[in-house]
Amino acid sequence: MAKVEEIFGSMVFNEATMKQRLPKETYRALKNSVKEGTPVPRDVANVVANAMKDWAVEKGATHFTHWFQPMTGITAEKHDSFISPLDNGSIIMEFSGKELIKGEPDASSFPSGGLRVTFEARGYTAWDPTSYAFIKENTLCIPTVFCSYGGEVLDKKTPLLRSMEVMNTQALRILRLFGNASVTHVTTTVGPEQEYFLIDKELYKKRKDLRYTGRTLFGAKPPKGQELDDHYFGAIKPRVAKFMAELDEELWKLGIMAKTEHNEVAPSQHELAPVFSDTNIGCDHNQLTMEMMKKVADRNGLVCLLHEKPFADVNGSGKHVNWSIATDTGVNLLDPGKTPSENAQFLLFLCAVIKGVDEYQDMLRATVATAANDHRLGGNEAPPAVISMFIGSELTEILTAIEEGRPYNGRAASHMNIGVDMLPVFRKDATDRNRTSPFAFTGNKFEFRMLGSSQSIAGPCIVLNTVVAEELEQFADALEGAEDFNAALNELIRKTIREHKRILFDGNGYDDSWIEEAERRGLSNYRTTPEAMPHYVDAKNIALFSKHKVFTEVEMRSRCEVHLENYCKVIRIEALTMAEMVRKDIIPASYTYLKRLSETAVAIKTACPDVDCVMEINMLKHLRGYTDSLYMDLGRLDEALASVPEAGELEKAVYYKDKVIPIMEALRAAADEIEKFVGEKYWPYPTYGELLYSV
Ligand code: ADP
Ligand code: MG
Repeated sequence: MAKVEEIFGSMVFNEATMKQRLPKETYRALKNSVKEGTPVPRDVANVVANAMKDWAVEKGATHFTHWFQPMTGITAEKHDSFISPLDNGSIIMEFSGKELIKGEPDASSFPSGGLRVTFEARGYTAWDPTSYAFIKENTLCIPTVFCSYGGEVLDKKTPLLRSMEVMNTQALRILRLFGNASVTHVTTTVGPEQEYFLIDKELYKKRKDLRYTGRTLFGAKPPKGQELDDHYFGAIKPRVAKFMAELDEELWKLGIMAKTEHNEVAPSQHELAPVFSDTNIGCDHNQLTMEMMKKVADRNGLVCLLHEKPFADVNGSGKHVNWSIATDTGVNLLDPGKTPSENAQFLLFLCAVIKGVDEYQDMLRATVATAANDHRLGGNEAPPAVISMFIGSELTEILTAIEEGRPYNGRAASHMNIGVDMLPVFRKDATDRNRTSPFAFTGNKFEFRMLGSSQSIAGPCIVLNTVVAEELEQFADALEGAEDFNAALNELIRKTIREHKRILFDGNGYDDSWIEEAERRGLSNYRTTPEAMPHYVDAKNIALFSKHKVFTEVEMRSRCEVHLENYCKVIRIEALTMAEMVRKDIIPASYTYLKRLSETAVAIKTACPDVDCVMEINMLKHLRGYTDSLYMDLGRLDEALASVPEAGELEKAVYYKDKVIPIMEALRAAADEIEKFVGEKYWPYPTYGELLYSV
C-alpha cells in the first residue's frame, strides 16, 4: 500500500486539487459563491467543469453522475459518459458547466409521498458546491441536491443544508451576546459510529430471507450466542482484518477519515468510527462508507449486513451520531470553557439542547422510526423507545444547584452565579459511563444512539439542528433586550432547567421501572413506527419546520407518507418471503424428515413386533404438530395479506403492525421449533451458528 498521506483524498476534487487546477480567478469566484450561498456563474462553472473532467480522466474516469440522496435514504446516481462525438467519427471527452450545475433524472421513480400527484413529476438535481466532487468506480460524482420543478424538495440534503443555516444564524446571535465578534460562521459537526455484521457470502446466498430482506426471518438460537462477551474488542480475525484494511484504503481515497475499527458485542459484529466533520460532509461520508462496506465485503467473499436486526436474540446494529456545534474559529461550543463567561455560554448551549430534546422528543423519535429499527427500540435491547438525556452526575448536580440557587457542593464549592463564577472542572471520562441512554452528553458533544445502522443520518441531524436553533432563537430574543444580561441569563438557565429537567435521566434505560417512571414524567413512549410516525406531522412540528423554512407543511406530510409507505412495503416483503420459505422449503423439509421417521418406525415394528415405538411416535406427533401449525399460520398470513385495507398509509401501517406481524411471529416460532428438531442434513438453510461463526 502506498503511503496513507498520498492515498488520502486522492480521489477527491478537494481544496488542494482545486487550488492546483483552477485559475486563481475561478477558484476565488467559486469559493465566494459557496461562502455567500449564491449560484455559481456559468462561466465559472464551465472552467470548473473542464478542470474536474481533466482531473477525473487522468484518474481513469470515463463517466460522470449527479450524486444525490432521495428519500429512499440511500444515494442515487445516473451515469453519463464524457464522450462527445466529433464530425470525423472520433470522440472527445467533454463536460460542460451546464452539465455540472444541473441534471434531470427522472423524478417519477423516486418516492415523493404524493408530491408527484399534486405537482410537476419532473425533478432536477443541482450541484451542491459545499461538498467536494469525487471519483468512485471510474465515475466522477458531483454531489447534488434534488428538487421537483414545482420547487418541492425531494431529497435529504437540501433540508439538511437549510437546518445548518438556521443554526448558523441563531448561534451567531448568542455568540454576539457573549461579546464574541470574531466568529463569522457556526456549523454543526457529526461523527457517526457505524455498526455492521460480516458474514460469509456463500452462506448468505443460501438464505432467501437475507437476500430479500437483509435479515433472517427464521433461525433457532445457536448453543453459543453473545453471552460470553468474548467478541467485544476481541482480536480481529484475519479475514475481517483484511476487509478493514481494504475498507480503510477505499475510504481514505475518498477523503473519509475512517479512524477506529473494532469488534462489537455480537459475534460477527463490528464498528467503524470516523473523525468528525461538518454535518453535511459527515452525512455524505456516511452514505459512502455504507456503500464501500458492501462493495469491499463482496470483493472478499463476504456480505456486509447493515440491517438493524439481522439476527433475533443477538444484538442489533445502530448508528451513534456524535453531534456538536462548532465555530469557524475552531471552538466546540459544547465544550465547557475555562472562564466564567465561557462556562455560561456553554451552559446556555447545553440548555438549548435540553429544552429542544424535551420539547421535540416525538419528532426525534419519529426520525429514527423504521420497520427495521422497531426490532431494537422498545424491544429488549438498547436504547429504549423513550427519549431521555444523560448528562452525567456532576453536570446534573451543577444544574440542580443552579436551579435551586444554592452553592454547588462538588469539587469547587462556589455559589453558582452564571457568568460570574467558574464551573468546577469536570473530566470528560466521568460523563461517558451510561451506555443505555438514547441521548448522552459525552463531555464535549452529544451522542444520539437511537439511529438504525442502515439509516441516513440526515433526518435526525435536520431535526437536531432545527430544534436547537429554535431554542437558541428564543434565548437570543429573551437576552438581547435584557437590561441586566447576567441576571437575565441566570434566570433563563434556571427556568429552562426547572421546566425541562424531566428529560434528564442517569439511570439504566433498559430497566422496566424506568419506563414506568418515564410515563409518570410525561415523556412519550412510542414503541413502533406506526405509533411514532404520526407525530412527525403534529401541529407544533409543522409550525417549527415551516417557520425556519427547513420543510414546508406539504413536504413534511409527504415525507411522513413516504416513511409509512416504506414501513408497509418492508413488512409485506418480509411476510411474502416467509410464506415462500415455509411453503417451498420448510414444510417440505419437515415432510422429508417425517417420512424418514415413519419409515423407521414401520421398519422397527416389522422387525420387532413387540417393540411399541413410543419414542418414534412421539417424535412424529411433535414434529407433525408444529408442521400443522405452520400450515395453519401460512393460511392466516395469506388471508391477512390479501385483506390489507384500501386506506391511507397510516391505517395500512397499523394493520401490518396489528394483523400481519403477529402471524409472522407465530410462523417463526413454529419453524424455529422444527429447525431444532429435524436432522441437520434435512434443514434447508445455514443455521444461526453457521452464519454467526462463519468468518
Ligand atoms: P469514544 O466514543 O471512544 O470516547 P470519541 O468520543 O473521541 O471516542 O469519538 C467518538 C466519535 O465521536 C468519533 O466518530 C468522533 O469523531 C466523534 N466526535 C468527537 N468529537 C466530536 C465533535 N465535537 N462533534 C461531533 N463528533 C465528534
Ligand atoms: Mg462514543
